Amino acid sequence: MPHQLTCRISNSTWSAIQQEVKRTGDSISHVVERAVTSAMGLEHHSIFQVSTTGALVQGVYQGCTRVGDLKTHGDFGLGTYEGLDGELLMLEGHCFRTTAEGVTGEVNDDRLVPFAVITRFEADRKERLSDIESLTSLERKMDAFRSSENIFTGIQLDGVFDKLDLRAACKAAAGEDLVAATSHQSEYRLENVEGTLVGFWTPAYARTLNVSGYHLHFISADRKQGGHLLNLNTRELSAAFHFETDFHMAIPETRAFLEADLRSDPSQAINVAEKTRKRD
Ligand SMILES: [Zn+2]
Repeated sequence: MPHQLTCRISNSTWSAIQQEVKRTGDSISHVVERAVTSAMGLEHHSIFQVSTTGALVQGVYQGCTRVGDLKTHGDFGLGTYEGLDGELLMLEGHCFRTTAEGVTGEVNDDRLVPFAVITRFEADRKERLSDIESLTSLERKMDAFRSSENIFTGIQLDGVFDKLDLRAACKAAAGEDLVAATSHQSEYRLENVEGTLVGFWTPAYARTLNVSGYHLHFISADRKQGGHLLNLNTRELSAAFHFETDFHMAIPETRAFLEADLRSDPSQAINVAEKTRKRD
């Protein structure tokens, strides 16, 4: 629910607001909210990303930012931990890690992260989704609620899940690339579990930076189970979509990142590593 603000401002501030309204064609509310959120460092409709999937594919998993730093850019998101050691999920400002054993717990702010996508989640659209037979079926239903193929979308799905197939990345060996590292990922099934899926839909044009299409991580309501979603089956979920029109990326200054060859298109390797089951 939006709040109403009444306050006194100087003539010069008022005329600056009027000029900005005229220049942009936006409403006064929009202009004021944008100025205040930017002055307070609260970016809305904005994605903050650390590193790129292209770098992950190359095996650049050294932590370059702390969980505490991620929290200054948002309260919701996903990623992985240093060394590809588990799955990261952030929800309501709490950051969790699911280990290869499927054990989930909150992490402290000093933990290092090599890749993450974070936002300050606010629902722009809420819907009920029913008869979800598979991940593909869920994706087709969510497609109908996205307004454009060209903006990022934050997604939160809540409910009781009949079946969830999840995976958690295992710590990678030194020099191991993402496809090799996820070929021995741990996979497990949860049944009849209440919880939340957290994630994003990313436009195809951003495929060298992020996982294009849908990418979702799960956390149970008791915060004890989680992982990266491979497939699911359930009757009903409540869905919230946050449309993101601003994109900020922090480029790691680790030696491995600075020296990596990131010229190629990583999307095929990302599809294998992030969207398929264990390969032997
Ligand atoms: Zn993932």
